Order: sequence, then C-alpha cells, then structure tokens
Amino acid sequence: MSENSAGQELLKELAYKKTNYFETATKDERDAMFIYADGYKAFLDAAKTEREACDYAVSLAKKKGFTEYKFGDPLHPGDRKYFVNRGKSVVVFRIGTKNLEKDGFRIIASHIDAPRIDIKQNPLYEDSGMAFLKTHYYGGIKKYQWTAIPLALHGVVILKDGTKVELKVGEEAGDPVFYINDLLPHLGGEQMNGKASGIIEGEQLNVLVGGLPYPDKEVSEKIKLSVLSILHEKYGICEEDFLSAELSAVPAFGARDVGFDRALIGAYGHDDRVCAYPALTAVLDNETEHTVLAMLVDKEEIGSEGTTGIQCKVYEDLMDEIAITLRCNHRRARANSKCLSSDVTAAYDPNFAGVYEKMNAAMLSCGTAMCKFTGARGKSGSNDANAEFVGEVRKMFAENGVVWQTSELGKVDVGGGGTVAKFVAQLNIDTVDLGVPVISMHAPWEVISKADLYSNYKAFLAFMK
Ligand code: MN
Ligand code: MN
Repeated sequence: MSENSAGQELLKELAYKKTNYFETATKDERDAMFIYADGYKAFLDAAKTEREACDYAVSLAKKKGFTEYKFGDPLHPGDRKYFVNRGKSVVVFRIGTKNLEKDGFRIIASHIDAPRIDIKQNPLYEDSGMAFLKTHYYGGIKKYQWTAIPLALHGVVILKDGTKVELKVGEEAGDPVFYINDLLPHLGGEQMNGKASGIIEGEQLNVLVGGLPYPDKEVSEKIKLSVLSILHEKYGICEEDFLSAELSAVPAFGARDVGFDRALIGAYGHDDRVCAYPALTAVLDNETEHTVLAMLVDKEEIGSEGTTGIQCKVYEDLMDEIAITLRCNHRRARANSKCLSSDVTAAYDPNFAGVYEKMNAAMLSCGTAMCKFTGARGKSGSNDANAEFVGEVRKMFAENGVVWQTSELGKVDVGGGGTVAKFVAQLNIDTVDLGVPVISMHAPWEVISKADLYSNYKAFLAFMK
C-alpha cells in the first residue's frame, strides 16, 4: 500500500467519521456481543409486559445477592438493593463508597412498557360465530400492523374478593393464540384506497378469542358462554371481573436472530427493553464506588403518567430517602447527580430515506446513540442537554473505548418524540438521552443490531466507573 498523502493524514486527524462497531471490534469483543445477546433474548421472551419485566429484574437481582429495599430501611455503603413500585416498575441500586452528597447518584433510566393492545373493561361479546374482546391500543402504533398475526394474552385480573389471578396464554408450545381479523384483498379495494391510518380503525381491533357454542339450546349467546365457562373453570374469572383487570394482547412471537450472519435481533418490545436490560445487568454485575440506580419505569409510551411512570414523585422520594438515610443533604446529592435517560432512537433506514437527515441520523451497528435533543418544531418539548454534560459523557466514553454516535429522530419538522429525560432533568439532574437505534420501531416485531446492544451496555459501564 502506498503511503498517505499529507492531505489524507490531515483529514484523518481533523475529520469525524462514524465507525461500524462490528468492523472495529476485536474477535473477543465480537464473541462477547453474541453471548450478551443470548441473555438479552431470554429476557425478551420472559418479559413482554412491564409486570413481567419487573418480576424478571427482581429474580435476577435476587440471584446476584440484591435484597428488597422499603422506605425506612437502613442503608450502608456496599449495599445492593432493589425497590419495587406496585409491581410495574423497579429501581435496582448499589450504595457506593463515595460521599453521596458530593458525588451524587449515577442514574440510568429506561422503560419496560411497550406498545400493545389493551383489553377494555367490558370486552367480551359474540357476533357471527366468533367471540371477541374489545380493546383500546396502548402507545403509538400503526394499527394495521397488529392484524393477522398471532397474539398472546398477558396480565392480571383482580377478582371480586381481591384475589389476583395472573394470566399468560399463547407463549408455551401447545397454547392457543389470539388474533385480530383483517380484510381479504379480494374485498379490500375500498380499504386499500383509504388513508393508512384508517385501514383499521381503533374499534376494529377486536381480539378473536373463541368459536365453540355452549351446548344448550336455551342460551342465546352460546360462544360467549363457552368462553366464560373456560375462563371460570381455568382461572375462576366471571365476566364482571374484567372490570378490574389489566389484560394486554402482545405478539406471540419470540425473539430470533435475523440475517444469515445473525448480526441482528428481531423481537417484540426492543423499545425499550434493549436499554432496560443493559441498565439492569450493568448495575447487577459490576461493582462501583458511585451510588448507581437502574430505574426501569412504566408508562413511558403514554407520557410517563400515573403512579408507575417517571413523573410520579416516588422516584424522587426514593433518591431523597437514600440520601437522608446516609445522612446526606438530599438536594445537594441530587444536584450532583448525572443521568443517562436510556431510550431507543430510530435507525436510519435506506428504504425510507426521505424522512431522515443522513448526517445526523443513527446508523445501525455504529453504536448506542446519544440524542442531545428530541422533538420537532424547534426542539419543542425536548430535554436539549448541556454541551458541558455531553462533553463529560463523551470523555467518559472515549476513555473506556465505547463506540457510540449521536442521533436525531428524523428530519427537522418531520416527526420527533419525547422520553423520560426531561422529567429527570426537572429534578436538577444533568441528563442526556442515550439508546439503541431500532428498525421498524413500535411495530409488533422490531429489529436491532447486536453491536448496538453491546455498545449500550459498555456505555453504561463507562458511566458507572
Ligand atoms: Mn421508548
Ligand atoms: Mn416508544
């Protein structure tokens, strides 16, 4: 090979270029990516709802010697704890040896809820030989994508006497699955000429749950009765119990490698388990002098509301309780804290190039992506992290060999989206978004790169160090 010219050398020194992490990784590191991905896929298959993700996190934490924390419990440096909020969000944390008031918390915040089809409170009816459950979708979805695929039902039903029944049907081999009907193309002429947002209306997202008539001539709704009788026999559920239930239809597919080379993973709910899992494992598996929290929260997909979303004061209370128990000023501890708000971003997709601005879009396999600002219409509603904090995180990553990139969600004024960052920032905590680029985000089955998953994990390790 000929030697570089002076100009080529100068370009190498001065210009910035993203790198494909698969390309720059050593053989050992590439092996590590694939091994890490296997643990992630197991998590995806076991945890399709926030309740299941919360339970899974707790069971992993227990295995690693973490114990449950409740407000008022004593705390000491070196303690490994988890705090469960209503069974739907969990904070896994380590108390560090550094002075919390001066050093602050290191927080990784991600969410464990995902778009899905929720069952209504009065759902069950029969019509024309079929029994259905009426639904109200959860989160931002393209409704037509959720028809004509196998669905599983997950959730809880609170019976009249207060007993909680857990339901999970459609995941085991041999389980029945459920289904949302679509129209055959032969009769779909008018449907296909309409706007995509109207191809399937919200009230057409009815989940098919039965077709067998109850054998009694005197009963008018025989199929509905047969479904009710099965629910009662198996779970002790009566129709009225749907009033106090949280049931969701989620895709019944498992996580699978994608591509001949297995570089990618397809699964339901990468958003945001692809950040939650690295956050969880980073805190569980690695000792640090800092006090670190992995916050796995609920309700991000509907605006971070409610008692389990990050806008709830419980997370602030938890940090304050920790600080006060350790005899620190809680406000100063918060002021000195840093947060990676870890949520997914859109990966640049050449099939839809028109909506991206290529220079600033996240590229698949170029590492976890930092989003200084999200939103559209002049960065509206976005966190827009300080350059100083971005610089600090950038330095951490450089010192620890993290392959990463920056990203913006689409062209200016085309779209945008928000996440938990701005709510953490309200607590006077420096916060920036960092997360894995996703292909087909919010589809029933999304795709990510194993390199980006592993880069995200390495970024968290650098942040905790
Ligand atoms: Mn998300
Ligand atoms: Mn989302």
